[in-house]
Amino acid sequence: MSILPQSLRHALNRIAERILPGTCLLCAADSSGALLCAECETDLPIPPDATCPQCGVETTLGERCGACLKDPPAFNRTIALFRYEFPVDRLIQALKYGHQLPLANWFGQGLSEKIVATEHDLLLPLPLHPSRLASRGFNQAVEIARTISRLRNIPISVDHLTRIRATSPQAALPLKERPRNVRGAFECSADLGGRRVLLVDDVMTSGSTLRECARILKMHGAAEVTLAIAARALRH
Ligand SMILES: [Zn+2]
Ligand SMILES: [Zn+2]
Repeated sequence: MSILPQSLRHALNRIAERILPGTCLLCAADSSGALLCAECETDLPIPPDATCPQCGVETTLGERCGACLKDPPAFNRTIALFRYEFPVDRLIQALKYGHQLPLANWFGQGLSEKIVATEHDLLLPLPLHPSRLASRGFNQAVEIARTISRLRNIPISVDHLTRIRATSPQAALPLKERPRNVRGAFECSADLGGRRVLLVDDVMTSGSTLRECARILKMHGAAEVTLAIAARALRH
């Protein structure tokens, strides 16, 4: 993609070149067929021990954070697999822009180990706007969610929730402008009465997009919305 800085494009190319069977994506050492070698996998940045159960930011003792107390989001809980930091950010970018789809399966596998399947009735991936889907060719959230659905036997729907308005990429906007940017961007076509929804996305930064999405799901009757996120950004 043309908006990527050159250094990042180079990094992605290096990652792409290293996808040879049996070698680690990050260090090219022998990984016996796995995407990452055991050493790189152990070193990946995981979320802190004590986090706000609702939004996943670090708190002293795992209590709810000030932001969630002051202005509670519509989602109830956040489950994050990694921190969105080096080298997980590279893996996410390789998935999205380098089309390394096996990574979606890998993130999905990790997330499915962190959830309790009986606590969720329906999996919904965060939708892309049709124009973005057309240019990328796939939705990474759908691919991650499909793996969770398969491994944990939770039904998935890819058409209940749709993105009806193309929005500027959230990352390009100051934090303050993000909620307004996504307001009214989603539509839900199903009655979710009483369903406990697991909403899946690859990255959560400010949370504005997921907040708006969860608001729509609750409006359509969802009893509970839990976020399942591959990588949570904890510093802006
Ligand atoms: Zn490695
Ligand atoms: Zn919070």
